[in-house]
Amino acid sequence: MKRLSLILFVVFIALVAAQDAYVRHLRSRKVEPRNYTVVLSLDGFRFDYQDIANTPTLDSIQKNGVRAVGLQPVFPSLTFTNHYTIATGLYAENHGIVANNFMIPSTKQIYSKSDKDIVTDGHFYNGEPIWVTAESQHIKSVVNMWVGADAVIKGYRPTISRPYNANVPYRARIDSVIKWLSVNYDKRPHLAMCYIEETDNVGHKLGPDSPTTVAVIEAIDRLVGYFCQQLASLSFCDSINFIVLSDHGMMTADKQNVVSLEKYVRPAWVDTVICSSAISFAYCKKGCADSVLSALQGVNGITACLRADLPERFHCSQSARMGDVVILSDNGQVQTYNNKRSLPAGVHGSDNANPLMNGIFYAIGPDFKTGYAAPQLYNIDVYELLCRLLEIAPAHNDGHFERIECVLK
Ligand code: AMP
Ligand code: ZN
Ligand code: ZN
Repeated sequence: MKRLSLILFVVFIALVAAQDAYVRHLRSRKVEPRNYTVVLSLDGFRFDYQDIANTPTLDSIQKNGVRAVGLQPVFPSLTFTNHYTIATGLYAENHGIVANNFMIPSTKQIYSKSDKDIVTDGHFYNGEPIWVTAESQHIKSVVNMWVGADAVIKGYRPTISRPYNANVPYRARIDSVIKWLSVNYDKRPHLAMCYIEETDNVGHKLGPDSPTTVAVIEAIDRLVGYFCQQLASLSFCDSINFIVLSDHGMMTADKQNVVSLEKYVRPAWVDTVICSSAISFAYCKKGCADSVLSALQGVNGITACLRADLPERFHCSQSARMGDVVILSDNGQVQTYNNKRSLPAGVHGSDNANPLMNGIFYAIGPDFKTGYAAPQLYNIDVYELLCRLLEIAPAHNDGHFERIECVLK
């Protein structure tokens, strides 16, 4: 027995040493990756949108590349959290961007998606996004509107990046990426990332089942077709891996059961409540979490829970940024907290394992299988995949390459 454990120990040490050597080798190598990686995120594009609309481009990518059944987001299934998870391979509690808006209890600082100074402040962002992993290993990256890309993280930023600006037309965003790729070999970035929000916008405004949503899906499919055409016009098009993915799905909002949290949560109990339609975080004053919790018990359509008591699969016990009490909508109920905004017709943000929260993963290019129907994938694994495509050594992350490796040749 002792002998067996000694052998296992030696094997383990050998494996660790081999892995260390591999990482050292990658970090010190001078050669460029063979291929280029282009990632397009279509915000809120649900796993089944291809099946409810006429989408020749996505059909063709599916036929000639990979389509996964779905791409499961991490909890909470919100935009900022999941874009930064895709970039880092970390759960929200580890990368710190736990919602589009949240508070850091120790300093009472508020992170808000609409505050330009805040979203560009590197100290909110933990972990290592893929463009930092790339740049720190001498691989150039260009990013057109991705959460975190305009902050200096670990001393790095992409070679080129553009801050989020809803007024920049989608074609122009694609044209910029193509322009940034159309440079001489020695200046050419190996990683390009681009973001388009239209499917999320229409999903919120009119709901996932609206005929207008179908029309938008078709328009976005044409836009992806335009992107493919432009990529195909580049001299090195045969070396481009193109990934189209999304951050989460969308579900019809239950507008009949609006939960106005201010009716239950007394201001004296909380520093604040930050509400994102289908999920809220209550940041409680000392000793008040139980009062908040019991006031919310039995309220129709929501489940309130001490953050520390939420199931482990949500991965939020380590993050005070998610408040003391987390309030989840059970089935699309809209939560509000002293806000007068018009109610959405579609929501996301609650349980990430709800199948309706599944996003998309399509991929085509020299490293991907052809006509491959992948099972459900997990967006936490995408960072590892990107590192593999770029032939760079990943930073520490929560992903599992083995779960996503099946998409590669
Ligand atoms: P939500 O649906 O609330 O999770 O957020 C989606 C919205 O976030 C989009 O419609 C954009 O308006 C906004 N958004 C997306 N990316 C960024 C970014 N990098 N910076 C600021 N706002 C963004
Ligand atoms: Zn989103
Ligand atoms: Zn949204």
